Amino acid sequence: MTLDFAPSGTRLDSHEVTNQATVLTDYNAFDSDPALSAALEREGGGWAKARASKLGAVVGSQELQHQAYLANKFVPELMTHDRFGHRLDEVEYHPAYHYLMSQAFGAGVAGLAWSSEKPGGHLARAVLSFLWNQGENGVGCPTGMAYAAVPALRQSPRLRDSWAKKLTVKSYDPELRPEVEKASLTIGMTLTEKQAGSDLRGSTTRARQAGAKDEYLLTGHKWFCSAPMSDGFFVIAYTDAGPTLFVVPRVLPDGKRNRFYIQMLKDKCGNRSNASSSIELCDTFAWRISEEGKGIRTAMEDAHLTRLDFAVGSAGLMRQALSQAIHYGRGRRAFQKPIASQPLMQNVLADLALESEAAMTLVLRIARAIDEAEQGSETAKQLQRIGPPLVKFFVCKTASGFTAEALECMGGNGYIENHMLARLYREAPLNCIWEGSSNMVCLDVLRALEQNPSLMDVMMAELRKAQGADPSLDAMIDSFTADLAGLGNAPYHARWLAERLVRMWQAALLLQHTPSYVADAFVSTRLDGNRGFHYGAMGGQYDTGAILERAAPPELFPARV
Ligand SMILES: Cc1cc2nc3c(=O)[nH]c(=O)nc-3n(C[C@H](O)[C@H](O)[C@H](O)COP(=O)(O)OP(=O)(O)OC[C@H]3O[C@@H](n4cnc5c(N)ncnc54)[C@H](O)[C@@H]3O)c2cc1C
Repeated sequence: MTLDFAPSGTRLDSHEVTNQATVLTDYNAFDSDPALSAALEREGGGWAKARASKLGAVVGSQELQHQAYLANKFVPELMTHDRFGHRLDEVEYHPAYHYLMSQAFGAGVAGLAWSSEKPGGHLARAVLSFLWNQGENGVGCPTGMAYAAVPALRQSPRLRDSWAKKLTVKSYDPELRPEVEKASLTIGMTLTEKQAGSDLRGSTTRARQAGAKDEYLLTGHKWFCSAPMSDGFFVIAYTDAGPTLFVVPRVLPDGKRNRFYIQMLKDKCGNRSNASSSIELCDTFAWRISEEGKGIRTAMEDAHLTRLDFAVGSAGLMRQALSQAIHYGRGRRAFQKPIASQPLMQNVLADLALESEAAMTLVLRIARAIDEAEQGSETAKQLQRIGPPLVKFFVCKTASGFTAEALECMGGNGYIENHMLARLYREAPLNCIWEGSSNMVCLDVLRALEQNPSLMDVMMAELRKAQGADPSLDAMIDSFTADLAGLGNAPYHARWLAERLVRMWQAALLLQHTPSYVADAFVSTRLDGNRGFHYGAMGGQYDTGAILERAAPPELFPARV
């Protein structure tokens, strides 16, 4: 019998597919970004260009994109017990996750700031993190934690030469073994409890001394514990003197497992390659890091590093969303022209490009302040205090709306899970939440200004570096302190304050360091109000073509129309 519904000559595999954009792959995320390269040079990290270019090629590679897809599709699984009922408390990851961890730790995304012998280590590491976050974001949690944990660990005579050093090594070892048997380590931080997240003084975990002066046993729970297969964790627990900071190792020095019970893994909106768990501690061994009662203060001393890193991560995420949107628009035609050259889409893409460059420029300026603060600059110490909470609020907050818009630039394709934009969109809100949610970091900005009145003078001097470049910015700076004084009820206005400072700082930097078609468009749209509520509602007076060519130079950025 012959089937008559497939006449000979009909192709059953598929019809011909036309006018679909290509996948943006096998490009160099650093070499194709002249604004990033200029910022690295300007802020004092020119020596790291070759390293950044190497990572840029990895990030743009098909291999990394595929591994990132796999690690987020095949999510970590909890194994509480082995087949005979013994407790395991292990998380099993897809091999793609370990591949990503090796790439990120191996490139120095975690450790370069501390292992670099050249000045500008924090800046160079920030550029690596910016690039890495264009590739995959779940791994940004363990790299950020390892980066930020080093100063606190260096305060501990016991852990300074072991744990602190091994977090900066450019390799990744996933095995649970005692610290002495490992060349490199990872670390997490588990502070949040069910009843207390923003207000850590509400923690209920208790610590009692056992053995040597800095050895304790902890009992309690932690409601959020990300990267639970890390070698150790910062934990806050109460002694009689108050909240105190400890390090809990997963494996004890004698090779036995510590009493660290993983209760469940969270089913998260995004950040799916990275496991986030709830844990119980029951007479769990720990080393004390802070003085008793000073744990929150010690933990917060290094919060500027994680906060900056999350803002850097969000800026990287936005940069990738922009790259995807421009590439798609150049490769897809509608109404006889590439979508990216249709006037209204040019307005949208150029608007996104301005936001992306402003975010990158500011986070890298603050990274330089961290380098200079370490070298003893008093001005930089002040900027280091206020800069990280400012960008943690503003840049992380911007990422959600930004990725939603970039996703729409790709039409229906952007909403489908095997396009990168869908993942970036689900990832975007997270950096607002952890390490101090938006309100908390805005209140922190306020606190910084109240505690140190000279900080406002330093901030104003930083902004006045662009004095005379634009009358709107000059006027805004001149009236700022008076505007602030007139507000009253300061906490109510903390977001307003943070927004103002960020917008002025971004404008000042762009006016000093970018071509006028970028800086003037930014000031006109963001300070003077020549822009509507959504992206793509800028006035008609801007050179959107030049803005887009800067964001994605056609000769460096594969656009196969
Ligand atoms: C995916 C994921 C992973 C996480 N991983 C970790 C981890 O590894 N370790 C860890 O310790 N934590 C982790 N967290 C928890 C995170 O740090 C907390 O969720 C965060 O600190 C907020 O705490 P909360 O959820 O208890 O919110 P709440 O404290 O209940 O706050 C709720 C809201 O109220 C606001 N708010 C609180 N106080 C004020 C105030 N005075 N004025 C105005 N607004 C206020 C907050 O800004 C927030 O928006 C993770 C969270 C997520 C989503």
